[in-house]
Amino acid sequence: MFEKVLVANRGEIAVRIIRACKELNIRTVAVYSEIDANSMHVQMADEAICIGKAPSSESYLRIDRIISAAEIADVDAIHPGYGFLSENAHFAEVCESCNIRFIGPQPRAMNALSDKAVSRALAKRAGVETPPGSDGIVEKEAEALAVAKRIGYPVMIKAVAGGGGRGMRIAHNDISLVKGFHTARTEAEKCFGNSGVYIEKFIENPHHIEIQILGDNKGKIIHLGERDCSIQRRNQKLIEESPSPLLENKFKKLRDKIGKAAVRIAEAAKYTNAGTVEFIVDDNGNYYFLEVNKRIQVEHPVTEEVTGIDLVKAQIEIAMGEPLRISQSDVTFKGHSIECRINAEDPFDDFRPSPGRIEMYYQPGGRGVRMETHAYAGYTIPPTYDSMIGKLIVTGKDRREAIDRMNRALNEYLITGVKTTISFQQAIMQDPNFRRGVYSTNFVEQLLGGARRELIQEKS
Ligand code: ADP
Ligand code: ADP
Ligand code: MG
Repeated sequence: MFEKVLVANRGEIAVRIIRACKELNIRTVAVYSEIDANSMHVQMADEAICIGKAPSSESYLRIDRIISAAEIADVDAIHPGYGFLSENAHFAEVCESCNIRFIGPQPRAMNALSDKAVSRALAKRAGVETPPGSDGIVEKEAEALAVAKRIGYPVMIKAVAGGGGRGMRIAHNDISLVKGFHTARTEAEKCFGNSGVYIEKFIENPHHIEIQILGDNKGKIIHLGERDCSIQRRNQKLIEESPSPLLENKFKKLRDKIGKAAVRIAEAAKYTNAGTVEFIVDDNGNYYFLEVNKRIQVEHPVTEEVTGIDLVKAQIEIAMGEPLRISQSDVTFKGHSIECRINAEDPFDDFRPSPGRIEMYYQPGGRGVRMETHAYAGYTIPPTYDSMIGKLIVTGKDRREAIDRMNRALNEYLITGVKTTISFQQAIMQDPNFRRGVYSTNFVEQLLGGARRELIQEKS
């Protein structure tokens, strides 16, 4: 059993991990940057160590400082959360070589899925379809043009190392492809330190459906069903739900197929610990592999709510070397769960970040409501990191009840001092198409387009 775990992250996910540790009677060590000195995770952990200045390159991304903190505090393991160093195989290797357990996939599994192009190739070998596209990285303009000619426009140019919705662009013809190809490479080098890009078919009106998987160190891998994350803005998720209304209403048989495809990919990578296999599904029920997120995900709570399985505790137990206690047939689903990401952004000003001091804070509660947040009255949201204030997760006996409950909870949520996306989330809960479960990744763009049209009409 671990006695002490260091949490190499901040914000709501650090709080989530500390809570899981406490319930397992594991002592916790927080690390923090100077600007996070008053952050919730620092207050909640048993010990806290400052690791540098605000920019993450000087704190949360500093492997040397995190390892030093771990050695000073004498911890058994490190949980990396999501973002930051969570998918860095080198960091996982350094941990292991210092005799500190890394709570995540083993380095060889991470390397087998090191980037998006490598993962595409692995999925193909596992017999899972990927969007038509290039075989690996595209180095030359002529090659890009040839791929586009073969698969047809529109195509996407994607950075192999991209993430968080960044590092991809659409091209509709040869001219925009040539231009986009060079810009994408330059940007990828700048943002991700890797100029590699590849090309894949842009799937129209897709649904983002992902499968949660768990694998132990003995080679057993199971999946915990799907999450529908099609409500996105600029390829970044805003709302996630489980089960997926698309699969429930239209493609019931697909659930089992996609679940099995995800497990095949995980098996091919000899995957361990928690992970997510992402797919896009088109209106005809064709599904294509996108990527594997080799970490706990932001939206993991909706899966926890419908399966009753604590994913963070499962991560810790797997890292301790314990075998999975459940088999695929033990995984059952109950009710419907929805998560809204609440961001400090102004929905009326193109979602411009709105960091600053939270003055009043009252969070929703009551039956079926769960909040994952590090926010409190008087807390100052720094401008340095992402703008998520917290996640509001509600669960109901069915989708209808979950939506009505979310609407009620959003109404209760009071935050003053910073702008938030609460009102925007409410508008989605009241949208007839969302309520019917009829939406694709274009939903938000269409909703915003409509709102813009209304504004223009009001003005004229
Ligand atoms: P999820 O898929 O878990 O919902 P997101 O894609 O929204 O997660 O990303 C989770 C966090 O990780 C965000 O803070 C995001 O900015 C960060 N992130 C993910 N991938 C990368 C990457 N390749 N480079 C930098 N940050 C990333
Ligand atoms: P990230 O690493 O940023 O999460 P992903 O490859 O998972 O990148 O894609 C993020 C989102 O971008 C998807 O959920 C989807 O909405 C959109 N997307 C990615 N690839 C395609 C594609 N080939 N066709 C249509 N949409 C895509
Ligand atoms: Mg993704």
